Amino acid sequence: MNKYDSDSISQALINSGYEQTQQMHDAHVIMINTCAVREKAEAKALTLLGRLSSLKKQNPDRVIAMVGCVAQAKGMDLFQRFPYLDLVLGPRNIHRVVEYLSRIKAGREKICATDITADPVISMRCTGFMQEKVTSFLKIMEGCDNFCTYCIVPYVRGRERSVPAKQVIDEATYLVSQGIREITLIGQNVNSYNTKDNGAPRFPELLREMDGIPGLKRLRFTTSHPKDLSDELIHCFGDLHALCAHIHLPVQSGSDNILGLMNRGYTRDMYTGLIERLRSTRPDIAITSDMIVGFPGETASDFEESIRLIEQIQFDNIFSFRYSKRQGTLASRLPGKVDETEKQRRLYALQEKQRGITLSKNRLLEGTIQEVLVEGTGKRRGGQLTGRTTENKVVNFPAKANLKGQSVTVRIIEGFQNSLLGDLVSIT
Ligand code: SAH
Ligand code: SF4
Repeated sequence: MNKYDSDSISQALINSGYEQTQQMHDAHVIMINTCAVREKAEAKALTLLGRLSSLKKQNPDRVIAMVGCVAQAKGMDLFQRFPYLDLVLGPRNIHRVVEYLSRIKAGREKICATDITADPVISMRCTGFMQEKVTSFLKIMEGCDNFCTYCIVPYVRGRERSVPAKQVIDEATYLVSQGIREITLIGQNVNSYNTKDNGAPRFPELLREMDGIPGLKRLRFTTSHPKDLSDELIHCFGDLHALCAHIHLPVQSGSDNILGLMNRGYTRDMYTGLIERLRSTRPDIAITSDMIVGFPGETASDFEESIRLIEQIQFDNIFSFRYSKRQGTLASRLPGKVDETEKQRRLYALQEKQRGITLSKNRLLEGTIQEVLVEGTGKRRGGQLTGRTTENKVVNFPAKANLKGQSVTVRIIEGFQNSLLGDLVSIT
C-alpha cells in the first residue's frame, strides 16, 4: 500500500509540473513515506528524517515532508523533534499533497494534515507513468476495523472505507490501456470491500466484474483476512479466468490460545478448514501467510503449534516477524513479555522450517510446464527474462527477444529458494 501511495504522490506531483530526480541533493521537495507496523521501520524513517537536517540547511527553500503511518501516529510532535520539517501528511490525506506544497511554498507555513476520516482517493494518474510496467497495484479500500491486539494499522489508516466499484473498474480499464496486464487489488482487508455499504457490490462481485475487463490477463488481491473468507470468494478461484492461483492469507499463529489473545476471530481448525476448501476448489493454489513469533504470553508449546501448523499446511512461503510492541495497542499492555533473544531464536527456527518447505515445493515444480507473464529482464545475467507464474513464483529464463508483457510457456529446469530457472517452450 505504501508503494501505491508513493506512486500516487509522484503522479500527482508530475501532473502539476514537478520532475522526478534520483538525487536527494537535487530535490526541491523530499518526502519520506513511512510504515509504523513494526518499531524498526519507524526507527529507520526517523533516522532518515534526522539526516535531512543538513540538506535543509544547504537550501532552506527545500520542502521536507514526512508522509504515511509514522506521520499519522506522531503528528505535530514531529515538528518539535525535527524543526526543519515542513509537512506532516497522514495516509488518508495524500490526495491533497499538491495543494499543501503550494501553500507551504507561498507562505512558508508548516502543515500537519492528519484527518483520518477522509475517503481513500485513487486516480492521481498521469500519462506515461505506467509505461514500461506490466503489473500494477490498485487500491480498492483503506483502513481496518479489526483491531488485532498487536496492530497499529486501525489507528493510523483509520476505519475501513471502500473505493466505489465504478471508479475501480474505470481505473483498471485505464491501466490496461496503458499496457498493464496484471492487477493486484490492494487494501488492508480486501474481503471487507463494501461490507458497510448496503446494496453495493461486495468483493466477490467486484472480482467477477474485473474478470470481464478485456486485455486484463491476471488478477490478484492482497491482503484478505481468514475470518472474512466467504465460500463465495473461494468459488471465485474455481471459475474466474483471470484470477491467479495464489492467496496470501495471514494466519499469525498456530495456537488457539494466542489467536484468541490476538483477537483474530478464528481458530486453528477454522483456518485449516479454509485451506482445505481453497485446495479442493483449486488444487494448484499457492498459499502464503504471515506469522508473528513472541507475542506476549506465547509459551514454548504455543510456538511449537506454529511450527506444526507450518508443517501441516506446507505454505509456499511465509513472511515472519518478531512481535513488535506498538504504543496504544491492547497487546502492549499484556503480561508475559517474551525476551528478544528468545524471539530471535523462535524466528530463526520458524524461518529454517519454512525455508526447507519452500525449497522442496520449488523443486517439485522441476520438469513442469508453467505459464509465465514476462515482466522484464532478469537481474543476474544478461539475456535472461523474468516473470512470474500464476502461483506468484519468480521464473528466470534465457531468451533473445523482448517478450515483456507477453505470456509464455516455460519448462522448469531447476527450483531454487527464491526463484525457478526455466527454458522457453513457446509464446502463447
Ligand atoms: N491486514 C493484514 C496485515 C497487515 S500488517 C492482515 O490482517 O492479515 C502486515 C503484517 O505485519 C501482519 O500480517 C502481521 O504479521 C505483521 N504485524 C502487524 N503488527 C505487528 C506487530 N506489532 N509486530 C510484529 N508484526 C506485526
Ligand atoms: Fe492489523 Fe489485524 Fe487489521 Fe490486519 S486485520 S491490518 S493485522 S488490525
